[in-house]
Amino acid sequence: MVGSPRRLAILSEETVQRGAASEEDNPYWELEEPPPHPDPARGCIRRGLCCKSSPGWFAPGEVERAAALVGLSPDAFVRAYVVIDQVEIEGQRVEAFVPVKVGRDGLPLHQPGTRVDRLYRMLRSPCIFYDGQGCRIYPARPIECRRYVCTQAPEDNLSHEEIGRMWLSGTVPSE
Ligand code: SF4
Repeated sequence: MVGSPRRLAILSEETVQRGAASEEDNPYWELEEPPPHPDPARGCIRRGLCCKSSPGWFAPGEVERAAALVGLSPDAFVRAYVVIDQVEIEGQRVEAFVPVKVGRDGLPLHQPGTRVDRLYRMLRSPCIFYDGQGCRIYPARPIECRRYVCTQAPEDNLSHEEIGRMWLSGTVPSE
């Protein structure tokens, strides 16, 4: 079960002034190289590397499923754990729900329930649902998480444009 929402994190004044633009300036960036995959042929072995850097995007209908899993209304779930990101498709801005990233203190890096900005997108940081061992909403995790395998070629993973097209058409994945 997901813990209760906590107050928002605020970047230090020094970090804001520097823009948190480089690896050294970004307090949430993991400087250590992750260990190599022990056997790439096995694909995802749930090391959590993607969960620790970039939460996956939800498709239409999936926030409702995840909210039900943790016993919240979709509205309360989004306002507690989810931000709104966007992708441009043929000149059109398409928005999607994404779990919010958290800082080293475990607090959201951006106000849940609102649209993110460029600085937030640049920060690599853990997903609010990653507990250090696995995903707290695993049975209802976003489609990008379900389809992503770090050992496969980037073109074999779902792109944000592909997920954006699902939002454009209102497609709800059948799996
Ligand atoms: S929703 Fe779950 S699987 Fe997806 S990034 Fe977050 S912790 Fe990982």
